[in-house]
Amino acid sequence: MTATIQAYQFALDPTPEQEDMLRSHCGAQRYAWNWGLARVKANLGQREAEKSYGIAGDDLTPALSWSAYSLRKAWNEVKGEIAPWWAENSKEAYAAGLANLAVALGNWNDSRSGKRKGPRIRFPRFKGKRAGLSCRFTTGAFGLAGPGRRHVQLPRIGVIRTFESTRKLARHARRGTARIRSATVSYRRGRWRVSFSVEITRQDLPAARPGAVVGIDLGIKCLAVLSTGEVVPNPRRLEAAQRELRRLQRQAARRDGPDKRTRAVPSARWRKTRARITRLHARVASARSDGLHKLSTRLASAYGTIVIEDLNVSGMLKNRTLARHVADLGMGELRRQVSYKTAWHSGRVVVANRWYPSSKTCSGCGAVKAKLRLSERMFRCDQCGLALDRDLNAALNLAALVSSRSWRATVNEPDGNPCKTSAALAAGTATGRPAGSTPCREATAHDTLLRVS
Ligand SMILES: [Zn+2]
Repeated sequence: MTATIQAYQFALDPTPEQEDMLRSHCGAQRYAWNWGLARVKANLGQREAEKSYGIAGDDLTPALSWSAYSLRKAWNEVKGEIAPWWAENSKEAYAAGLANLAVALGNWNDSRSGKRKGPRIRFPRFKGKRAGLSCRFTTGAFGLAGPGRRHVQLPRIGVIRTFESTRKLARHARRGTARIRSATVSYRRGRWRVSFSVEITRQDLPAARPGAVVGIDLGIKCLAVLSTGEVVPNPRRLEAAQRELRRLQRQAARRDGPDKRTRAVPSARWRKTRARITRLHARVASARSDGLHKLSTRLASAYGTIVIEDLNVSGMLKNRTLARHVADLGMGELRRQVSYKTAWHSGRVVVANRWYPSSKTCSGCGAVKAKLRLSERMFRCDQCGLALDRDLNAALNLAALVSSRSWRATVNEPDGNPCKTSAALAAGTATGRPAGSTPCREATAHDTLLRVS
């Protein structure tokens, strides 16, 4: 039994009145965010100005607290004055906006002081009318509704019909293995959705073959090649839809769109085409996500150990010729899904070191080639004459990493200097495994628990 937090998302089919209320709640969340941000900014600016006049620390205007609690308290004191219409929306909408602001300010502060790793976080900005619509509810009456498994309930807005059945979550709720913690409504790609954050007690069976190892080589030509020899074809839905997309984009270009210089209002025909493009993008995205989920579920429930490459996806996205394909395939997404799903089935994911030459190594004799062009689809070994599909060879090497003794001996060592390692590889080091470099590592908690959806 494992307890996890999972998101259950359902597309909503609101009535026009309900849609108005959804929009109003999202606007309320934005209003509270902007109000709180203006307050904090004014306070920071005041203190900054006073410091520049040479006012001593004790005489400065006191700093405002950024906690969600104090922001909410301050809001409640003034809301009757500045927003006499506040009662039209659930108080949760304002509380959520202020809570988000408190998190954003905290992230900025931690990033500034070095407490938070990763890229620098910018100071929060005001949300304009074009900001994404969303609103979160953490208290009040929300959850599944009705006997037909086709409705959800939200505070104040009431019971809204869903497009899909809610049975998966309903079954958990009936068994008492689900606790809904919050509900977030959002408007994305032309559709309203609700996302429930749910604490789930899962009882998954262990992987069908707990001792089995499968290596996955993620490719450009096909989605994945498994070390079992199976070739998983690309979800080519994006490719197929792209022709239609190009046609629609040409159509939109011919129609009268908005113009910033002349302030021309877009024509109704332009809007219609734009709406079609949005829907097409949405269809492609959900088809792709479906394909990836089916593959990752199948692998995680079948194999005890999954070996996967550590791809530098953000680096690959900068390479413009590969970019579209990589983005299309959602490689990083597959790895994320495999990571958390193996955890459910008591399996494990092993991530190969980024510099491990899985493609250049012969899966038969272990010899490493100095060079292998991306255009060479067949792997031919100069030492033992082995010839097989390039991606299958790489997948076999990845699977072999787990059984080989060298990995067990070095698993706990640090990764070594990647630059040094890559230089050594480029120079054609005979073994391909420079000293101090670990060919792979067990996926860490960070890999597994990135995000569960
Ligand atoms: Zn060989």
